[in-house]
Parts: sequence; C-alpha cells; structure tokens
Amino acid sequence: MKYQRILLKLSGEALSGPNGDIFDSVRLMQYAEEIKRVVNEGIQVAIVIGGGNIFRGSEAAAVGIERVQGDYMGMLATVINGMAIQGALEKIGLYTRLLSGIRMEQVCEPFIRRRAVRHLEKGRVVIFGAGIGNPYFTTDSTASLRAIEIEADVVLKGTRVDGVYTADPEKDRTATRYSTISFEDVYKKGLNVMDMTAFTLCKENDLPIIVFDMNKPGNLFKIVSGEEVGTLITMG
Ligand code: UDP
Repeated sequence: MKYQRILLKLSGEALSGPNGDIFDSVRLMQYAEEIKRVVNEGIQVAIVIGGGNIFRGSEAAAVGIERVQGDYMGMLATVINGMAIQGALEKIGLYTRLLSGIRMEQVCEPFIRRRAVRHLEKGRVVIFGAGIGNPYFTTDSTASLRAIEIEADVVLKGTRVDGVYTADPEKDRTATRYSTISFEDVYKKGLNVMDMTAFTLCKENDLPIIVFDMNKPGNLFKIVSGEEVGTLITMG
C-alpha cells in the first residue's frame, strides 16, 4: 500500500440527500463501506467532516446573528456529522473514536494528539469533530492541521469533482484535469483547492493533497494502493 496513515476530508454537504435531507442513509453507508475497505488493509484512517449540510458560519449574517456565534454553531454541526459517520462505521463492525475540538465528554473524547495517534495505531478510525475549536477557521484547515499533527502521509479531499481542473468543469466544458500539480502552480493559476489557510499549512509542511471523487466506488481504495486517481498536489 502506498499510504499507511491517511486523513480523509469530506464536506458536510456530501452527506446530504438529493431532496435536501440533512443525511442520505445510502450515501452514509456507502462512505462507511469505502472506509472499511481500506481499514481492512491495515491503513490507519482519520476523518474530518464539514458541517455545510447543517450550518456554516458564513450563513450567520443571513439569520441575523453574529459571525462568531455562527462559527460555533458550524463546529457543533460537524460533531453531529461526526456522530453520523461514527454510527455508520460502527454498524459495519469498525472500531471508532470521535475526538472533539470542543469539550463534550458525554458524546466524544476531547482532542488529545497522542491519544489520536494511539487510537490509529490500534486500528480505530479516528473522527475529528468540532473543527480546530476556534472560530474563523474551516474544516479544510482542520484537516490540514490534524493531518500534520498526527503525521498523516496525505490529505485526501473527497469532493464531487474528480480533481483539480484548469477551470470550473461545471461551467467550462473545455476545462481539463491535472493529474498532478505543484502547490506553487495552484497559487500562480489561482486554482481553488482549499481555503488559503488550509492550503498554506499543507505547503509549508510538505504534506501532499489528493483531490478526488469520493462518490465513485473504489476510488479511496485505489488511492491508498497507489493508483493515480484525481489530482495530486505536491511540492513538485
Ligand atoms: N468552523 C469553525 N472553526 C473550525 C472549523 C469549522 O469556525 O475550526 C465552522 C465554520 O463556521 C464553518 C462551519 O464550522 O463554516 C462548517 O465547516 P465547513 O464550512 O468547513 O464545512 P464544509 O463546507 O466542509 O461542509
């Protein structure tokens, strides 16, 4: 296997159903099965899930509340999503731990780096909830930071697009996909991979990112086995 320890980032929206439901049970179980497949190969898996299917801090103004309050609501939303994926993974027999950036002992452990690493070594899927625990950050930044902290080999950003394109493929039909691109070129070309805080963290710590389509069955397994899937972003 090419990677031994991975950090999988999924957006909250990825969990939601086509008719606007917060969760799509089929999708949830599909993701759980994809994750199980790599765990069965002995790969250590950590997960960060967004909260966009429930609430984003940027929506706070629209409901007339303060941004920071909204950010905390967004962080709590990621805990709900973390519990959902935890439930799905446990249903199919995996061992999991949900570690939160905001203390809430009744539902999850607090984030303690050494503990996270220990869980991974024991084969438990570790889910990082509540983001970093601070407002004005995103779950992409959480993914980058936690990946560095646990010394993951790679950040796998699962999206509904199968990689990084020269332009938005949903708007520009001539757009082509990069199979690999350097951090520098992503900056220079102004491509949108992650927010800048998240992206810079990866660049400065030489942590590769792979952007790929998580909805395509088998993709996660292919990536950890070393097949070229999606777009790999490295120092170049
Ligand atoms: N958030 C935050 N600090 C963090 C992580 C998340 O304040 O460390 C808040 C932020 O408001 C964000 C929301 O949680 O909008 C949900 O996360 P995100 O938007 O990254 O979710 P995604 O778009 O991936 O579903």
